[in-house]
Amino acid sequence: MTHYEAIVIGAGVAGIYQIKRLADLGIEATVLEAGGDLGGTWYWNRYPGARFDSESYTYGYSFSRDLLDEWHWKEHFSGQPENLRYLNHVAAKFGLRKYMQFNCRVDAAHYDEAQNLWRVRVGDGRELTCRFLILTLGLLSMPTLPRVEGIESFKGRSFHTFHWPQEPVDMTGKRVAVIGTGATGIQVIGEIADKVGDLTVFQRRPNWSAPLNNAPISEAEMADIRRRYDEIFAACARSPGGFVHEPDRRGFYEVSREERLALWDKLYDEPGFGIWLANFREIFMDEKANAEISEYIADRIRRRVKDPKIAEKLIPRDHGFGVQRVPMETRYFEAYNQPNVHLVDISETPLVRITETGLRTTERDYEFDIIVYATGFDAITGAFDKIDIRGVGGEALADKWRTTISTYLGMMVHGFPNMLMPAGPQSGSASTNYPRGIETGVNWCTDFLEHVWAKGYTRFEATEAAEKRWTDHVTGMYAMMLMRKAKSWFTGYNSNVPGHEQGTIRYLVYNGGAPKYVGIINAAAANGYTDVVLGTGGASSQALPDREPLARSSS
Ligand code: NAP
Repeated sequence: MTHYEAIVIGAGVAGIYQIKRLADLGIEATVLEAGGDLGGTWYWNRYPGARFDSESYTYGYSFSRDLLDEWHWKEHFSGQPENLRYLNHVAAKFGLRKYMQFNCRVDAAHYDEAQNLWRVRVGDGRELTCRFLILTLGLLSMPTLPRVEGIESFKGRSFHTFHWPQEPVDMTGKRVAVIGTGATGIQVIGEIADKVGDLTVFQRRPNWSAPLNNAPISEAEMADIRRRYDEIFAACARSPGGFVHEPDRRGFYEVSREERLALWDKLYDEPGFGIWLANFREIFMDEKANAEISEYIADRIRRRVKDPKIAEKLIPRDHGFGVQRVPMETRYFEAYNQPNVHLVDISETPLVRITETGLRTTERDYEFDIIVYATGFDAITGAFDKIDIRGVGGEALADKWRTTISTYLGMMVHGFPNMLMPAGPQSGSASTNYPRGIETGVNWCTDFLEHVWAKGYTRFEATEAAEKRWTDHVTGMYAMMLMRKAKSWFTGYNSNVPGHEQGTIRYLVYNGGAPKYVGIINAAAANGYTDVVLGTGGASSQALPDREPLARSSS
């Protein structure tokens, strides 16, 4: 049996940075990764059109000036191949691969109370143990397929976008179906519409979507970005979403309608999430303000889609603009102007089954060569539920979270000692620019562990009261937001996951914004982690080698 001081599960953006921090501290640690290599989201999602919708230079890590100075982002919103290259470059530069074990799916992690350690069971039958378990599992890493009969019977090629084949898929002249019109479907559709023979989009509910306005980054522009990195990261730290886009602080009703329209005209044509996040704050909370921006975006769709009937089908009716995660698109609406692209509204004619040759709706049969499932994820908690995680007294995390999620700062769970989630449910990561939230979370967790090591503790556990306080705070934040009314992964809805299909709200993400989140977690640290019970425990405390108190990391 192999013992580590820390085991990190997941070698995505969070796991890579987490192992860097542990390696810098000289901690004996390993990363277990189910995939064949590192990269997480950017390892798996190889579908055409997969790219950031965060500005590339706000997505990269900020921890190393050297790294910032040497990397040239080629596009404002960089594509998957480049993003994976970047993460590989980071791992190579800092010598991180040697800490990683690939094709290592973790089946179970059980806290052994007597020994005060975690027993981690890997798919190949090995059992590893560790003092501290760090879960960097990804919040969108458990893809879900429709619960419809016949998926296995299809004789052509079919895949979920998350499992897009590593080798290129030749779609030339092929009849392709895409099911799903979330951020992923919208990227795929815009990218492949003019490359396939025939494309049929099966849409159940449309999503509000706005142009990405991507462009290459020249040498001169990149040099300017490098000079401004401090300023850029400072802007991200100030903004609720962790992006360069800061809300317009003027009151929605304080300015005239003409001024509002002028702002929207400007933002719609600018790159990235500005139209969503640099907008008036009222659009997220006030029905009337939200209805006005929604009508504005609806008009932009009408202007871009030639067939008025199709345009109306592409305009959401069940939720307003920005209350679900806004997909950023490139040529998405124009795709529907092409004669080879067809829209099937499966809210009118539902999907009945997948057949050997295609799929059947209540109206008719369709034949395809390729079916693409862009049907989303068992988001936020799916990857946690998949592992048999058991804490004190054998309590299963999946059971604890079955009806309501509860965490302490999104990073610890009462009853699950010595377990950290740098980018967990209810943390600041899910609702913000991921890497910014991830760096915050990893830094907080690592600083916390340094405290634990420096003081000679071997066991920590968030108190039940602190967990309740945090969960109440997270829940309270939803009360102010229109997003609570929308059926999306932000509220825990997924029609393909038993128990999540009703749209009963689950409080999964922190909506207070990045600055508030950072303020709260920093205060918790400054107060000496009084919400966490620290101690020594377990027979093995003495058996394990003594560790020198650690100096604080300078990275
Ligand atoms: P999603 O937003 O959950 O969308 C899934 C889509 O599939 C929805 O249109 C859904 O319809 C449809 N669908 C699901 N089950 C279906 C069924 N049984 N029959 C018919 N349609 C079905 O998932 P996603 O598009 O993969 O995006 C998830 C998140 O990943 C995004 O919100 C974003 O945060 C992230 N993402 C990021 C990027 C990026 O950064 N560039 C790109 C892609 C994704 P309903 O709406 O009717 O349920």
